[in-house]
Amino acid sequence: MQLIHCKEVRDQLMYYMDNELPTHIKDLLIGHLKNCSSCLDYFNEEKQIKSKICNKLKDAYICRCNVEKLAEDIKKKIGEICYNKED
Ligand SMILES: [Zn+2]
Repeated sequence: MQLIHCKEVRDQLMYYMDNELPTHIKDLLIGHLKNCSSCLDYFNEEKQIKSKICNKLKDAYICRCNVEKLAEDIKKKIGEICYNKED
């Protein structure tokens, strides 16, 4: 069951990457990314752009976003979801 639409997912991803969303929203987004490859592609693109920006910011400021860790978390979560479903 799809609880959240692609448009909402894409709107929320920016906040997600800034780690500004409550856990239950994050779980919804991750659940959607697991089932929707077009949103996953979108996320990966946004992640790369943000990662580049953050790297530049890090030269001058302390940047609190951690895009790489976030990507790892999502991979792990998706893995968990897949694993649970196969079980
Ligand atoms: Zn989608």
